[in-house]
Amino acid sequence: RSLLLEHFNLDVEFRTLGSQQDQNFLATSHGSLEPLGVLKISNPAFSRLELELQEAVAERLAEDNPDVRVARVATLDGQRVEGWFDTTQGCLHLCLLDYIEGVTLTGGCYLAPSVIERMGELAGRVSRSLASMSHPGAARTLQWDLRHARRVVDEIGAANLSPRGGDTIARATDEAWQIVESLAAQLPRQLGHFDLTDDNLVGACGDSPTPDGIIDFGDVTDSWAIAELAVTISSMLHHDGVEPRSVLPAVKAFDAIRPLSDAEVTALWPLVVLRGATIVVSGQHQAVIDVNNEYVAASLDSDWRIFEQAASLPLDVMTGLFRHVLERPAAPLCDTSDYGRIMDLGSEKVVTLDAGTTSEVNDNGGWRDVNALERAALDSLDAGAATAVLPFNSIVLTGSPILSPTEPRTVTTETSIWSSTERTVLAPTAGEVRTLEDAIEFWFDDVVLRLSGARPATTESEVGEGRAIAVLRARSRVRIQLRAARSSAIPSLVSAGYAPGWLSVVADPARLLGLPESVAPRRSDLLERRGRVLARVQDHYYETPPQIERGWREHLIDVSGRVYLDMVNNVTSVGHAHPRIAAAASRQLRLLNTNSRFNYEAITTFAEKLVATLPKELDTVFLVNSGSEATDLAIRLAMAATDRRDIVAMCESYHGWTYASDAVSTSIADNPNALDTRPDWVHTVDAANSYRGRYRGEDARRYATEAVEQIEMLGAAGTAVAGFISESFFGNAGGVPFPDGYLAAVYGAIRAGGGLAIADEVQVGYGRLGHWFWGFEQQGVTPDIVTVAKSIGNGHPIGAVITSQAVAERFRSQGYFFSSTGGSPVSCVIASTVLDIIREERLQANAATVGTHLKQRLEALGVRHELIGAVHGSGLYLGVEFVQDRETLEPATAQTAAICSRLLELGVIMQPTGDHKNVLKIKPPLCIDQTSVDYFAEMLDRVLTEGW
Ligand code: PMP
Repeated sequence: RSLLLEHFNLDVEFRTLGSQQDQNFLATSHGSLEPLGVLKISNPAFSRLELELQEAVAERLAEDNPDVRVARVATLDGQRVEGWFDTTQGCLHLCLLDYIEGVTLTGGCYLAPSVIERMGELAGRVSRSLASMSHPGAARTLQWDLRHARRVVDEIGAANLSPRGGDTIARATDEAWQIVESLAAQLPRQLGHFDLTDDNLVGACGDSPTPDGIIDFGDVTDSWAIAELAVTISSMLHHDGVEPRSVLPAVKAFDAIRPLSDAEVTALWPLVVLRGATIVVSGQHQAVIDVNNEYVAASLDSDWRIFEQAASLPLDVMTGLFRHVLERPAAPLCDTSDYGRIMDLGSEKVVTLDAGTTSEVNDNGGWRDVNALERAALDSLDAGAATAVLPFNSIVLTGSPILSPTEPRTVTTETSIWSSTERTVLAPTAGEVRTLEDAIEFWFDDVVLRLSGARPATTESEVGEGRAIAVLRARSRVRIQLRAARSSAIPSLVSAGYAPGWLSVVADPARLLGLPESVAPRRSDLLERRGRVLARVQDHYYETPPQIERGWREHLIDVSGRVYLDMVNNVTSVGHAHPRIAAAASRQLRLLNTNSRFNYEAITTFAEKLVATLPKELDTVFLVNSGSEATDLAIRLAMAATDRRDIVAMCESYHGWTYASDAVSTSIADNPNALDTRPDWVHTVDAANSYRGRYRGEDARRYATEAVEQIEMLGAAGTAVAGFISESFFGNAGGVPFPDGYLAAVYGAIRAGGGLAIADEVQVGYGRLGHWFWGFEQQGVTPDIVTVAKSIGNGHPIGAVITSQAVAERFRSQGYFFSSTGGSPVSCVIASTVLDIIREERLQANAATVGTHLKQRLEALGVRHELIGAVHGSGLYLGVEFVQDRETLEPATAQTAAICSRLLELGVIMQPTGDHKNVLKIKPPLCIDQTSVDYFAEMLDRVLTEGW
């Protein structure tokens, strides 16, 4: 303080900031809270030249990258605030650095892919800027310079500082160093920051700050250029949800700015491992010699996590993954056409098995049966095949223990065969046979042929080409894997996200078996095809959605076998791929499917079952194909029955896309122009939302009073109203119940004026609310017309309008009613079965118990997470509303979108709803169980805790 006052006339106050080896303080002007800068007292171990180097590098980066904020020496009144000063602790260098406002990524917060990409981009830009720079201060020896990683680990680790997992570190260091050392001569060197980590990248304050500021030039030196990226990447690995492959966007971004050479791609992950090892041993060392340094002590766990993640996969698997995303595949492991055949399967009948997501083997939940694949193979043999083959690089869903949303291992790294007869396996060339406990291996050139499930055919170890090496038993599975000799055991199945990496260290054994090589699945172009042929306004969920091709109960499965928890699907009310529905539809398709003007049983049976769920006044059914059609027809029924044309609708509602249903749809989330483009026959009343509407809490009673007044005024002004339409429970706002007595008052006013009350039950009806089968029961009213769709067909297109005979009869003035496939035999059989399932599987009761449990868990999250403004809803129609401020209720729209994206990464399908798109709409299939809703609550808690 006194030095700054004396030399720079600055009266400042300080707050200590952490540092590994210097002393940093946040400086504010005396009596002010505004930060003035960061005072750095450099460790006297650093020379003048080294400090000049740091300043020069900061200047260069600032010059080259004007959009990046760089912490340079502050200039106040034209004077640079720095210098060397004699102190009681010797001659020290002090400088005041620019204060870069914002937050670093310090801590274990989640890093969104866009943040990871940005970190890689910044590393690339720094590397590019400094490539041509040189400075005499760069001739320094730094512990953090990865060129010295081996020495750091050996010397500090050997000092026996009880490093956690010392052996693991030593082994991983050996392996990584071996690769780096062999490439050292090919790795270009240059000046670099070499500490562009989460701690030193600053972003504007916010939930998920995108960094645009760089601080801390303490590790600037001359080293391998690729170390810049390795250091940045390693700092990501301790963050929540980050795993090795999460760093890929950073690698791509770096490469796009500063292209990586082949040697650099190969050295990258080994350097990440070495960085992990050095920070673990250095941190432990520092913790011993600097016992009171809290900054160091606090990082020990995250340091270890970095190392652990880096060492969690074989180095060449990660390198293979990098090559894959950079579209620079390595040469194949070996050319199998160079060798003799070990068997000749191609000359006989071969059946290629499909165990992937869309395979019939997996129908009716068959994918949960561990024996399904085996059975399919043996069935093929029984049907006359000589062999059944499960190819290399194919998807195996069958037998996966996947009823929770995870990314299971589904990609084969080997070929499996079942032979109808016993067969001999011949050596493809001269090589060595090794008989292990669980397999026979044949080592030749740089590869290993591994046969699991075969028995030995020889006791010799060195054999020549064509000699018998193993025997396959008849009708028994044998796995054949061809791996690089340098690789240790490779799992039979790997997860799709890492498959390109694993597949780079194995080869397809097909040609050795006399079979054609399996064609690697091409990158899916489904979205591009969709974009070319489907109207773009016919939107899809998510920017890059998974390709979902199978469902089961409340789960969805994509083509790679990844499982998601479907928390939004009220269309699929009784669960995905319900076997009873599949069977009923299939049987009816074999019997009859036709237009609904014929006389067949299914239409009558379904209509009878439907009216049995409703009050007795509602005894007459119209069948259509969708909710929009149902709304359209309901409006026309009201108009025909009253001989009027004006309709009152509620704001913030959605009722469909057809001309009339769109006219009464007022939600600006679905159509931003909704309110300005209402035709003159549509009148609106306020959204009766007691949480965020005009009237809240007790005041919410006024919605009814005002709506009644409006309806009466319309009548008084000579605009007699045909009807009032709204949902019966505010689904579009996220499941907000209307204030007590609201519908009773409004229906009363409408009827007093001679109009009809229409209840849209498309979303909330059919047992979803748990405590009531129909939403209007919650309000204690009976509408004149009810519309329902979506859930009644479990995804099959069918909708219904239910009213009284009297109202229905009045439609004769419009001619007759006919919808070709509305109520077709197949639709009605499906709809009947849905009702049977809801009753027999007690799904309404399930909605009540599981929904109530979930609501309690979500409310408990609301106590801990400020962002949750309210939890709305009943049964399995729930809404979690996110607000920036619990007083103003400012909607947290961007956060809601980001939370949904993060939930997808965690295996949960979730979407926003409401006019501000700030409510999670929770409406899973009614068969969802407690384990699944608990998973959802846990994942939401995790996202709200760690970030999005
Ligand atoms: N009414 C409500 C309340 C709805 O939510 C929807 C669809 N989201 C519809 C009607 C229209 O149904 P469909 O999409 O089947 O035409």
